[in-house]
Amino acid sequence: MSKTGRVLRIEKTSIHDGEGLRTVVFLKGCPLRCKWCSTPESQRMEIEKRYGKDMTVEEVVKEICKDEIFFFHSGGGVTISGGEVLMQADFAKEILISCMEQRIPTAIETSLYSSYDITD
Ligand code: SF4
Repeated sequence: MSKTGRVLRIEKTSIHDGEGLRTVVFLKGCPLRCKWCSTPESQRMEIEKRYGKDMTVEEVVKEICKDEIFFFHSGGGVTISGGEVLMQADFAKEILISCMEQRIPTAIETSLYSSYDITD
């Protein structure tokens, strides 16, 4: 069965989070509270009003795959962001593996604020 995670939102055709046109998957949850945070609605793990929903890996990857043509023509791909990606490391890992199996270039945006067990 496909793993479930908590997603803030999926943003299309971003030009700021890696090479080319990117589809950015913003995950919920971050242990830090940076004053300059550009996505403060991502910090809390809870679903807050319209911020956040639970999705399966399959649902997220299906959404990413809709943009394959843009990745192909721009040299882009998918970026997993947050929040802190490593708060949902298993979920993020499964998304990345599934994308790599479909030859979609991948990246993550992380503070690396996590235990060694997860980053190892
Ligand atoms: S690490 Fe990133 S997501 Fe977390 S609070 Fe700081 S800027 Fe926001």
